[in-house]
Amino acid sequence: MSIIADRLSKIKPSMTVGINIKANALRAEGKDVLVLAAGEPDFDTPQNIRNAAFKAMEEGQTRYVPGKGTPALQKAIQDKFLKDNNIKYDLDEIIVGVGGKHIIYNAMMATINPGDEVIIPAPFWVSYPDIVLLAEGNPIIVECSQKQGFKISAKQLAENITSKTKWLMLNSPSNPTGAIYSKDELKELSKVLLKHPNVFILSDDIYEKIIYDGFEFSTLASVEPSLKKRCLTLNGVSKSYCMTGWRLGYCGSSKEIISAMNKIQSQSNTSTSSISMAASVEALNGTQDFIKIHNKSFLKRRDIVVEELNKIQGISCLAPQGAFYVYPNCSGIIGKVTPKGNEISNDEDFMNYLLESEGVAGVHGAAFGLSPYFRLSYATSDEILIDACNRIKKACDQLT
Ligand code: PMP
Ligand code: GLU
Repeated sequence: MSIIADRLSKIKPSMTVGINIKANALRAEGKDVLVLAAGEPDFDTPQNIRNAAFKAMEEGQTRYVPGKGTPALQKAIQDKFLKDNNIKYDLDEIIVGVGGKHIIYNAMMATINPGDEVIIPAPFWVSYPDIVLLAEGNPIIVECSQKQGFKISAKQLAENITSKTKWLMLNSPSNPTGAIYSKDELKELSKVLLKHPNVFILSDDIYEKIIYDGFEFSTLASVEPSLKKRCLTLNGVSKSYCMTGWRLGYCGSSKEIISAMNKIQSQSNTSTSSISMAASVEALNGTQDFIKIHNKSFLKRRDIVVEELNKIQGISCLAPQGAFYVYPNCSGIIGKVTPKGNEISNDEDFMNYLLESEGVAGVHGAAFGLSPYFRLSYATSDEILIDACNRIKKACDQLT
């Protein structure tokens, strides 16, 4: 009999985390590897936020703090939801976790009974299905093609709701495609959701502030306030404030769900770090000026990558409106043969070939549930991006 629980056999380790670690390890060994697999900004945490952390340490904010968040952080989150999203959450409708990932995990553990279904539009962020499986739910993957902007339509949503549907996962701007749901698109989805009062919606807004081309961010609980009590509005400091290592995410939802999630935290991790909480108060309340500056760099990088990738035969790439990923189509590469005589039969083969032949690390589309595509993160310097695109071109030119 194995020591490992049966439920672990249903899930796999996170591909985004794994590929990133592998590529960075190769680079640390001295290999010439360009890592475009990372799901994090390359900018440092802004100085005012780091200063707030130093101050908190010096003032002795080093003891246990409430799992739901310190009063100062709870208030900062409440203000943020009201100011940015026009959603009024009471303090007992807010909770803080060890990153957005942890919030999703706790939400699923708190609400899923064996066999409950969770609708996940594909391409999806890699962790959604596995978290649902860990909670003994059934991920219902709904393929959303490039033609439909990689977004679920109201018709697809209606067709996939059953009596077992517990959650719909929405992620806008999306990882891996950068696609954004407009207010009108959310309104269309809300019409379907209003007909199904047992379906809850997890709105993953973690890339909310990384948006280009004048697009306006919208989230379901503010587009359709009558759905607010069925929404879990997820956000965090990882992406907008360049704080991936601080491990802090938060959400607003119904008192009932928040209280259940709090019960889980009280018996597991207790809370995230008190220092991360103090730093996040400054992130949310302090200057937001650097976000514009970062977005200006991201936009320039997006344009470089999209332009360069579209010059490569066999690859076509849309310009995404948010986040810092591109999700190019590589159908023109599939079926070709490498100089070593290996056929590229899928996007994973293509990513392995790019890594081995030219040292470019990206993540294959199959990991996100839609092939043949691949995800490149452009949260790195212009020089690295240009070098990476040249290498991808060289690798593709050698295929026959
Ligand atoms: N949601 C999405 C769509 C993400 O890309 C990430 C990135 N890791 C997360 C949630 C969670 O981020 P974190 O746990 O760092 O807050
Ligand atoms: N969300 C990021 C990514 O997709 C970070 C890694 C992870 O947690 O998955 O690459």
